[in-house]
Amino acid sequence: ATPTALLVGTGRGAQLGILIKGPQILESTRRVDTIVLDKTGTVTTGRMTLVAAVPVTGGDEQLLLHLAGAAETGSEHPIAQAIVSGARERAGELPPSESFASTDGLGVQALVAGRVVLVGRPRWLTEQWTIPLPSELQAALAAFETQGRTAVAVAWDGQARGILAVSDVVKDTSAAAIAEFRRLGLQPVLLTGDNETVAAFVASEVGISDVRAGVLPAEKAQIIRELQSEGRVVAMVGDGVNDAVALATADLGIAMGTGTDVAIEASDLTLVRSDLIAAADAIRLSRRTLSTIK
Ligand code: ADP
Ligand code: MG
Repeated sequence: ATPTALLVGTGRGAQLGILIKGPQILESTRRVDTIVLDKTGTVTTGRMTLVAAVPVTGGDEQLLLHLAGAAETGSEHPIAQAIVSGARERAGELPPSESFASTDGLGVQALVAGRVVLVGRPRWLTEQWTIPLPSELQAALAAFETQGRTAVAVAWDGQARGILAVSDVVKDTSAAAIAEFRRLGLQPVLLTGDNETVAAFVASEVGISDVRAGVLPAEKAQIIRELQSEGRVVAMVGDGVNDAVALATADLGIAMGTGTDVAIEASDLTLVRSDLIAAADAIRLSRRTLSTIK
């Protein structure tokens, strides 16, 4: 390969809004046949908003919002940001919280007004903390999920207290980009820590049939390795801290420009506009650049 032609490629990449770590990267994009897409912040905007707060029967919505909102102030997760700002809007100033701890991809805990508050994946509460979800909250949860909303459970002092639902929207360019990946011969896979119902909802909106949902941050890289062991050459697009290891494991790691620094660090390419169309452009560009060299 002539370095000059490759550098032309990387210069053109910059014009298209793609930052390439080095010209050698173009080589690996040529053989890619599978593209794994993180859901939140990659296929969707990741700018979530709180759409509902459902307290358990006899519970107080204001208290639910105050305690959950306060517990989430320590987290940078898009769900946490939606809960904090939504709680402030609906319930006013939040009480202070202390002893914050978060478990990646599962939820948070904090001490608020003398109570140990947990907010997170419903299964994390029921399985790890052995806090049962009353049937009315299970019903609320299922209803939100079938509408494509991510719902988290709230508990304090060992009892489930309510459900909070957040909504996210698919980026308006995602469906077109995924159609373009298919035209380029790439099989799209949706990968998310979110639950299956919500993941299936988003997948059907953008035209993806291969969905891997409920995946813990540590398992994301494992999914990439499994695909590679099937003989596939895998590109992964992501934005979060929880995507970093998977991005580094993929044959081609692509980070969203709006993503976290760790995701960008772990990747080969960065999409300045955080638009999946640019990922398709990058793959087309690298193939064209390489065929010019040959
Ligand atoms: P994704 O792969 O879509 O970026 P994550 O792995 O970050 O999702 O999170 C997976 C799930 O863990 C969320 O859908 C939510 O149920 C739970 N979760 C993670 N962080 C938080 C948080 N700060 N507050 C509440 N729930 C959380
Ligand atoms: Mg994400």
